[in-house]
Parts: sequence; structure tokens; C-alpha cells
Amino acid sequence: MAFDKAQSANFFANNSASITTDADEERLKKLKMVMSLRKNGISSPQILKIMETVPRAQFLAPSFTARAYEDRALPIECGQTISQPYIVAYMSEQLELDDRMKVLEVGTGSGYQAAILSKLARRVYTMERYHTLHRMAEARFQALNISNITAMTGDGLLGWPHQAPFDRIIVTAAAERIPRILINQLKDDGIMILPLGPIGGDQRLLKVKKTASGIKCKELCPVRFVPLVSGVAKQM
Ligand code: SAH
Repeated sequence: MAFDKAQSANFFANNSASITTDADEERLKKLKMVMSLRKNGISSPQILKIMETVPRAQFLAPSFTARAYEDRALPIECGQTISQPYIVAYMSEQLELDDRMKVLEVGTGSGYQAAILSKLARRVYTMERYHTLHRMAEARFQALNISNITAMTGDGLLGWPHQAPFDRIIVTAAAERIPRILINQLKDDGIMILPLGPIGGDQRLLKVKKTASGIKCKELCPVRFVPLVSGVAKQM
């Protein structure tokens, strides 16, 4: 079929318009997400900017990417979940990070929380009990050119003794009690954020401060996380 000049100009105009619309749509979804974070009390401009910049869609399977910027937890591989953006931003804010700090994350999952932390801290160490999740997260860090995250397959309940002590520790799976080993791997004046409570039950986000004389705990808000399970997963 031969296009006349007017038709072909129209064809290209429509086509490029639809490409721009896809990018615009994604930008709009991100902006809406950030506006909802701000409305719900996330006040740090730095964290809001990072939440807008890191592409959550790239941490999800293709069947969920359309929903990447909804403020909800979503399923990932190995029966686990990527946390809700609000919780990711809130936990990041409560960690009170600066760019000289070394952070341990227990529960890499998709790698999204670690990617957010990598923009706020000097170095992030992240542990995951599923080898598959660890490998997928590492591929995402590489694709996004993030070079200050070290990831490993391992039992986070044992911490990362070779890299301890840490300025901050974040646990992204719910424990029944505060893991003593992790407290031991936290520096004095360090902060640990973790969800505490039974599987599918009454869980609370806890902020733990370590001082020379012991630990001080503050309850932040009710949450729902997958459980912290001891040992490396047998299923890859
Ligand atoms: N931070 C993640 C959320 C992951 S959900 C994200 O941004 O996507 C919690 C993760 O903790 C799961 O992937 C689960 O496999 C992992 N996990 C549970 N117990 C663990 C343990 N003892 N050591 C390491 N990872 C653990």
C-alpha cells in the first residue's frame, strides 16, 4: 500500500505520540505513588525523590509490572512478597541513614528495598535464604548500575559476622522475638528496624536503638510481613 505524504506524516505522528504516552503513563503512575506516600506522612524530600527514581517495575515479574506503582505489596518468586512502597519508604526513613553508613538487610526478596537503601547509605549488605531470589536481585542491581550492594544467600538470623558491626540493620520478614545475634552485630548508637509478631497475626514494626546500657524499643505501626525462617531454603 502506498502512503501519500499527508498519510505518512500522520502515521509517524500517531506512532511517536503513542510511545511518548507509555513513558508519560509510567511517570504519572510514579508521581501518583509519591503523592500518596507524602499524603501518608513520608516527609523526607530525599526519600520521596529516590522512590520516584528507582523503577519498582524492574523488581517484578512481567505479569505484575502494570501494578508496580500501586501502593501495595505484590507476590514475587518463591512464594514471597515485595513490600508495599509506603512501608519501604517508612522503614528507610526510620533508619535515619546517612551516606557514611554500612547497613545490613535481612530478607533481600526482590532487591527493591536494598536498591532504595543503596541511595541513602555508603554500603548495603543483604542476605536472602532463597538462592533464586538472591541471584535475581543481583542481576537487577547490575542492570541498574548499582555497585554498593553486596548480596549473599544465607540465614540472616546469623547475621554477617565478617562485615559486622553495622550502623543500621533492617529486617524485612517478621520475627517472633528480637534476634539477639543481630543486636550483637549492631554498633553502639545503632538502629534496627524490624517487624515483630506471629505469622499472619498481630505484627508491629519496631525501632530498636542500641545504647551502651542496653536496648530501647519503640513500636511504630501495625504491619504484615512474611515470616523470618531459620536456615537456608532447601528449594532453590
Ligand atoms: N526486602 C524485600 C522483601 C522481601 S520479603 C523486597 O524489597 O522485596 C522477605 C524476604 O525475607 C523473603 O524473600 C524471605 O525468603 C526472606 N527471609 C526469610 N527468612 C530469612 C532468613 N532467615 N534469612 C534471610 N532471608 C530470609
